[in-house]
Amino acid sequence: MRIASSRAMEILLHLKDFVEPGIKTMDLEAVCEEKIKEAGNITAAFKGYNGFPYCLCVSVNDEVVHGMPSERQLKENDIVSIDFGLLYDGYYGDVAMTYAVGGISKTAQKLLDVTEEALSRGIAEAREGNRLHDISHAIQEHVEAFRFSVVREFVGHGIGRSLHEDPQLPNYGTKGTGIRLKPGMVFAIEPMVNMGNSEVYIKKNGWTAATKDGSLSAHFEHTVAVTNNGPVVLSRV
Ligand code: MG
Repeated sequence: MRIASSRAMEILLHLKDFVEPGIKTMDLEAVCEEKIKEAGNITAAFKGYNGFPYCLCVSVNDEVVHGMPSERQLKENDIVSIDFGLLYDGYYGDVAMTYAVGGISKTAQKLLDVTEEALSRGIAEAREGNRLHDISHAIQEHVEAFRFSVVREFVGHGIGRSLHEDPQLPNYGTKGTGIRLKPGMVFAIEPMVNMGNSEVYIKKNGWTAATKDGSLSAHFEHTVAVTNNGPVVLSRV
């Protein structure tokens, strides 16, 4: 899982170099496909999953998750969330980051920073003896302190031999509730944070979730193991 997760992150970081005004989101998909082919022993986790046709989910601005690569060109001041999973030797890894396209507003940068920090705070709670929703609570508390909101309809999840395993891991919740965390459990922790309110809708393509109020949305994700020695970020490069 460390290999699947860290390779996914390597590719995600590689894609960052291509995120600039003028690039089509489909070009990012092509770069990703090339990297997978080059590696030879890894498979894209999302392509074909429930019929999803691409390796990447690319969600721009008000799109929250499950955006589809297309001929859409990124432009200055956009933010783009890229979600990417890999399968290696029977095990999955799942990562996401939101990138700025050129210069972005201070508030947009704040949204990215707060979402990334919320992920770090969630990861810090992924330790033996804690409860599942300690992770959720840490994320929610940080996000709401900045008056942003966490998306409710989409959640983190267990991960392993399947991309999505039980339990679901909401990005909101009450401290001290949920299952007790044990060494060996692995979670995809993935705050999705809206600048406006938490409501989302699904676009006409049947996949892409976007904010109802049109506000920006950010998404950061790591694959994290609970161990005897605290949380281990398997997707750390
Ligand atoms: Mg995920």
